[in-house]
This record gives sequence, C-alpha cells and structure tokens, in this order.
Amino acid sequence: MQRFVSMLLLPLLLFSLTACGGSAPAPGSDGPSQPEAEAPETAETPEAPEEPAPYTILDPTVMPEGGIRDGVTYAAYDGIVEHLFFHPVIAYPELAFDGDKQANGLDDFMVTVDEYNKILQSVYDKGYVLVDIADVWSETTGEDGQPKMVRNTLYLPEGKKPLILSYDDTNYYPYMLENGLTYKLIIGDDGKIASWGRNPQGGEVISRDLDAIPILDKFVEAHPDFSPFGAKGCLSLTGYEGILGYRTQTDTQSWTEAQEANRQKEREAVKPIIAELKRTGWTFGSHTWGHLRLDSKSLESIQADTQRWADEVESLVGPTTILFYPHGARPDGNDWKNTGPVFQYLQSQGFRVFCSVGVESFSYIKKDICAVICDRLHPDGTTLRHSRERYLQFYDAKDIMDVDVRPQREISWAS
Ligand SMILES: [Zn+2]
Repeated sequence: MQRFVSMLLLPLLLFSLTACGGSAPAPGSDGPSQPEAEAPETAETPEAPEEPAPYTILDPTVMPEGGIRDGVTYAAYDGIVEHLFFHPVIAYPELAFDGDKQANGLDDFMVTVDEYNKILQSVYDKGYVLVDIADVWSETTGEDGQPKMVRNTLYLPEGKKPLILSYDDTNYYPYMLENGLTYKLIIGDDGKIASWGRNPQGGEVISRDLDAIPILDKFVEAHPDFSPFGAKGCLSLTGYEGILGYRTQTDTQSWTEAQEANRQKEREAVKPIIAELKRTGWTFGSHTWGHLRLDSKSLESIQADTQRWADEVESLVGPTTILFYPHGARPDGNDWKNTGPVFQYLQSQGFRVFCSVGVESFSYIKKDICAVICDRLHPDGTTLRHSRERYLQFYDAKDIMDVDVRPQREISWAS
C-alpha cells in the first residue's frame, strides 16, 4: 500500500478569528416605505429567513417498490464501491502557489477549485452516483452469535456505479487561511451552506463557488441524479483547531475564562452549520483529535486523544462509526493482517469502518473483530502528476490538471 505522508502537521499558529458571519442587510427592505401613521398597530412577524427546500435522504440498501422510483429502474449492485477523498480545495491558487515553504505541500495534497469542478463533472459523466459510506457496510450478528460487519447489496439506478466521497481535515486550519483556502462554513442569506473567507486583496467573500462542500451542494442541485439517495460526502474532522472554521477546541497551554467563553460561543455558532450539513446529506467521521499517527503513538496517548475527540467533536457532530487514519498510517503494523491493541481499543470505542489511503478502493471485512478496513484513492497534485493511468476510470489528469497555476514540477504524462 502506498504510504500517504500528509503535510497537515504544520506548526500550530496562534490564531484568532473575529466572530463574523459576514452579516448582510436584511433582504426585502427595499419596498416602498409607508407613512408612519398608516403602519399597523401590531407589527407583523419579522421576515423569517428563507424556508429551506425539503431534502430527501433515501436508503440505498432498500429496493424501491416495484424496482422503479421516479421512472428510473433500479438494479442490485454488489461490485466495488469506489472511494475518493479530497482535502479542502484551493480557492485562490495565487496565494497557495506563491513560492513560500508550504507551496509544494499544497501542490502535492490538494486540488484547485477549477480542478475539483472538472473532477465532479467527469465522475458524473462516467456514471458514478454518490452513496454514503455508512450505508455500504452494516453490523449484524454472525452464526456464532458474535457481531460482524457485512457488505450490503446496494440498489442503484440501472447502469450506475457507486462512489463514496470523503473530505479530510475540513477544520479550516490557520495555515489554510493564509494559503488561499476558505476560512469557514456559514449559512448564507438563502439559508444554504456557503463559505466565508478573504480574497487576495483582503476583501470579505461569501460564496458557494470557492469551497468543496457548497460546490458539491450546487452540483447536486444542478444534477440531482448524481445523488439519487441524497448522499453528499463524509467530513473527516480533527479537533485541535476546532471544526468547520469554528474554534471549538480547548488548549493545553493556557486556559482562561475568556478563552472558555469564546469556545462556548464558537460551539453555539457551529451548531446550525452542522444541522444544515446533516439535513442535506453530509455525514461526519473522526480523523482523531490531534491528527495522531496511529502506527507509532502509544496506546495511552491514543486513548486520551480519542476521549478528547469525543468531548470536543462528537459532542457537536454526534456519534460516528467511521475513522479516517491520519497520514493513512495503519495501527499495529498492519490493520488488515493484525488486530492489535490499538485497533481493538478504537473498535471498542464504536468505530467500525477504518479508512486508510491506497492505490485502489480496496476493502476487507475483518474476520476476528467486527470491523471493515477500506482504502481510498486521493485526487490531488501527486496523483494528477504521476498516476494518470490509475485514475482514468474517474477522469483524465490531462483534462483536469491546471498546469498553468501550479508550481513548475515534474508531470509524468507530459514527458
Ligand atoms: Zn489529515
């Protein structure tokens, strides 16, 4: 398996974000003004935020009545479920690829907004449809009375292929904000998830076109058949810099009442974002609290980290059975051959689907413990440059890679 060395352990930078939702003037205030005398005694209810459109989430493990839904014929599928994962995408390449010491890391592990848009269009054109990772495997009881994982049969629109998407480190780390990525998720005036951030000139930007999450939301709005069950992606969260751009973490260096008050304010602020993400098909998994290497850290430190993730992240996003290994590092030597103490501990904490990174969407249901191991492919600069063949089933790197904005480094298929 290809080792995945992430650059996401850059030094923690001191960071304070002024709580700012980019509040805009209230909509609908531009009508003709009425003379005061004629104003009704009892003011009408203030204009409510736009009512969100209903969003339907369906279970892909259930065949629709008669095998047909909305005129589409469904068929059983037991083949490979492909799994692609992204990091947050680069909104402003001129900030990411400015020649500073982080530029090559961003080039290796991220895609730009333009590349991401083209990848989504390509996987859609090639017949993939989104499924949620938690629907692909289920826990059941084996003949021996022990719990075990099973691979579910999926019922998909005929001829379509299932695709899981996951997004690592959707925490909006300080180093990302300085390098041309968005700062946080917010709810826009239309009631939908948007990003807030700053353009290269420093101006505030609220958009649905600059961040992987609202971009996928918009893509599914435009192409509802890309997500026949309403699934979007699974957001893989650490906790050490907060989540989704909100600084919900504790700090071990110092702790004051003011810090705690701010943390509680951030926790309240992120709750409606989480609720809206969940309502519209997004799910959450753990990426450990501290982006911990599970192949080398002690069991004690992993236990403390897992508790901290539960306290600070699970307490907001809810329980999850999905764990994404930081750096793709497998615990106990090799998690699909061994079931060592680290793996046993993590499983005892409720994790059932353990995701690494590899060269194919490999998955393996463990026989000796109720768990499944799965690898994910990684659309990013390294694979755009050097793994064109392996990704042709999804897209052709030649059509995707934004060669002009990326650093001038080797491209295998160009030589
Ligand atoms: Zn990571």
